[in-house]
Amino acid sequence: MDVICPPDWRTVPTATSWCSCGRMRRAVGRRQVVELVADHNTHRTTCHHHTNRHPQATTTGRRAAA
Ligand SMILES: [Zn+2]
Repeated sequence: MDVICPPDWRTVPTATSWCSCGRMRRAVGRRQVVELVADHNTHRTTCHHHTNRHPQATTTGRRAAA
């Protein structure tokens, strides 16, 4: 997950979301970036690539960092 939010409000923020499973999306514009972040977080919780990757993390209640 790579979010670029320039301090300069005139610059359009962009974000790139990618996953180990090969999923990749790009967002341009503040609203799309916000939606992409939420979508990315949702995907992280459902993607088998992550839920199977660290089985011990889920049992201990730890959450993988974005
Ligand atoms: Zn995935």
